[in-house]
Amino acid sequence: MDSTLLLRDQDGCAAAFPWKLWIYTNFDCNLRCSYCVARSSPNAARRAIGPANAMRLVDEAVALGFRQVFFTGGEPFILPDIYEMLAYSAARVRTTVLTNGMLLRGPRLERLRAINSPNLSAQVSLDGATAAQHDALRGTGSWEKAIEGIRLLTAAGVRVELSTTETDANSGHIDDRLLEAGAGADDGEHDAGGDRER
Ligand code: SF4
Repeated sequence: MDSTLLLRDQDGCAAAFPWKLWIYTNFDCNLRCSYCVARSSPNAARRAIGPANAMRLVDEAVALGFRQVFFTGGEPFILPDIYEMLAYSAARVRTTVLTNGMLLRGPRLERLRAINSPNLSAQVSLDGATAAQHDALRGTGSWEKAIEGIRLLTAAGVRVELSTTETDANSGHIDDRLLEAGAGADDGEHDAGGDRER
């Protein structure tokens, strides 16, 4: 299959941006952010896509010439089989997993670190340089755990990118969060106009 023929719009023009596939792995989450477009929460139905479907989608995306695959939810690291999906994808294409960073400790962090692929990034939601800015819409205590998650990921050698949703609580302070997140955090797909993760 000639992927160059597919990476064109309906008028036959070359695509302006590299094609990216977004895979929603599940819809439950340890948080219940007030602005969550997926309406995720601890009570949301999981609706897990499962490794077989995710791997099939990755294969199709690679065959079609997609340049990057994003795994999002819900919170993907609730799933015990997320590592299998990430390892499969990262072996084939640039792969980013979106997370609130709060669960990446102990065995979860170790399993993610063990994938050990230069193709893999973790995109962590960080809505500000202070707890007040971040917690206003994400919940009390979430900023502190996200910051710790970023530090643990970075120490484990996992590439970290940040994602921010601009809100009334953090508007005007968007760049301050990079100073708080510390050296090693790389501002990748961040979209202050709206959190791309959900
Ligand atoms: S915005 Fe992200 S972290 Fe917040 S409830 Fe939705 S999926 Fe969970």
